[in-house]
Amino acid sequence: MNIILMGAQGSGKGTQASVIGPRLGLEKIATGDLFRAAIAKKTELGVKVKSILERGDLVPDELTNAIVHVRLRDMARQKAEGTVRGALFDGFPRTTGQAEALDRIMAEQDDHIDVVIEIQVPREDLVARLSGRRVCPTCGSVYHIESDPPKTPGVCDKDGTPLGQRDDDMPDAIRRRLALYDEQTSPLLSYYEGRGIVRRVDGNAPIDDVTDAILANVSEEKV
Ligand code: AMP
Ligand code: ZN
Repeated sequence: MNIILMGAQGSGKGTQASVIGPRLGLEKIATGDLFRAAIAKKTELGVKVKSILERGDLVPDELTNAIVHVRLRDMARQKAEGTVRGALFDGFPRTTGQAEALDRIMAEQDDHIDVVIEIQVPREDLVARLSGRRVCPTCGSVYHIESDPPKTPGVCDKDGTPLGQRDDDMPDAIRRRLALYDEQTSPLLSYYEGRGIVRRVDGNAPIDDVTDAILANVSEEKV
């Protein structure tokens, strides 16, 4: 069982992936997280992609496909051991080239994508969600100044660290990321629609309801 979560930046994809992955025994593969980890560790890849992420641009397909390929090869071992049932993609694929590469990598493992879930949220709401997002630099907890504020404004509930904003949650980068989603990523929906595997959920519903809607759509499929 392999699932792709699609939705513009700020649609709540990452939040849902963290809940749904463990529930279904799926390993989350979030390319944005992998890039941010590489940047934090200052690896060769991290150094290459740092400024790309800061601007809100897309990392070239070659680099992106390569990290996913490595992750999926590692995961094949976990699958053979029975500890993981499949992959939950969050933020990948984002271009047609990536979707084609993913098909090839999956086919290498005699596997395929079962469902693509699109989390739909109106554009105005996306901008408000992204610009109000605050993250803890220590533990990675994510808050929102309006919808999910920390107990004390500006500091993390878990460890008291002052909260910050992702560079790419600044207004220019937000506009850039949403434009890229429209240009490069939303055409992917038709790529998968041809196979009849796209399901849509309302991302403006409360978080738990979105989770339930996703799970309901997934359980229709053979799990
Ligand atoms: P995210 O956390 O998914 O919003 O990703 C943060 C940033 O990482 C994006 O704005 C891109 O710069 C980069 N990134 C993440 N996933 C991809 C991808 N599939 N293709 C290209 N760039 C990506
Ligand atoms: Zn924290």
